[in-house]
Amino acid sequence: MPFRDVIGQERAIRFLHRALMTGRVAHAYLFSGPAGVGKRAAALAFAQALNCDMKQRSVDSCQLTAAQDGCGVCRACRNIANGLHPDVQVIEPDGATVKIEQIRTLEADAALVPYEAQWKVFILNSAERMTEQAANALLKTLEEPARGTMFILLTGTVSALLPTIVSRCQIVTFSPLPHGQIEALLREKGMESSRARLIALLSRGSIERAFCPEVASLPATRDLLLEGVGRGLQDGPAALVELAEKLAKDREKLQQQLEILSAWLRDLMVAKASGRTDWLVNDDRGEAITRQAEGVPLDAILDGLRAVHAAMDNLVRNANPRLSTEDLLLRLREALPSGLLAVSI
Ligand SMILES: [Zn+2]
Repeated sequence: MPFRDVIGQERAIRFLHRALMTGRVAHAYLFSGPAGVGKRAAALAFAQALNCDMKQRSVDSCQLTAAQDGCGVCRACRNIANGLHPDVQVIEPDGATVKIEQIRTLEADAALVPYEAQWKVFILNSAERMTEQAANALLKTLEEPARGTMFILLTGTVSALLPTIVSRCQIVTFSPLPHGQIEALLREKGMESSRARLIALLSRGSIERAFCPEVASLPATRDLLLEGVGRGLQDGPAALVELAEKLAKDREKLQQQLEILSAWLRDLMVAKASGRTDWLVNDDRGEAITRQAEGVPLDAILDGLRAVHAAMDNLVRNANPRLSTEDLLLRLREALPSGLLAVSI
């Protein structure tokens, strides 16, 4: 997909456009940002803009119009989009890591002239998962880049990469998409609005998450979670420790569960403060929320919300998920009236 089809990320794309327009294209880029926000799509679009047949034709005929974007329809653009272009490769981790053999193969390939394109582009996904040997090998390649060769490293965590690699790359930052933009997209695809609002909020700014097939079961996941946490908060500390262990097993899922709790408590606050149900994220559960909000003071909801947000911060800071979840559940137990969340979900 060309740049014009990449959703959001205007700042990152403007930066890449400028490089194309001025002809000052670097040999190595580091696209940094959370998963599922368009880094890979933008990298492929960049490769298209560099290698689009239409652009080459206009250069050949001395019309030096800089291609800001691939046409998306010529053979080169289509092959790049479909992963069939011999000069544009996407390298994925082999199992848990990107291995030195993969970097060696890439190195050997990078030393050859392009088959048919102007630029050979190597897109390295999850670059932070390179082994130390792989990273050192790549560093050597980055130190002496061959003409017409470009590396685009994609990562969610710049800090996990060797500083020497980072310093050789132009960093382009990708941000989570605003909830409103994702909600609008889901609605454009025909999703009804309350569901679109809930999913947009729970997707944490990631298009990929918003459109993944599991999204269909989100309301059921939410109901199960609230019931489980509600019941857990009524039980003793031993049960809470067990519940924390269960919730924290999968880090990615835990983040989603914290978003669900945060959205629910936020709704309790809205219902408590305004008495309105049309402003709720979970407006399919307006009745339950109104009933729960009646039985809990505003301060208690705020304390609960603070506890959830503290747990989210902890996860971002790479804290132990199980301990953070235990701490969260204990705080919720202290803040919220017994059995609150378990009430008639
Ligand atoms: Zn094209």
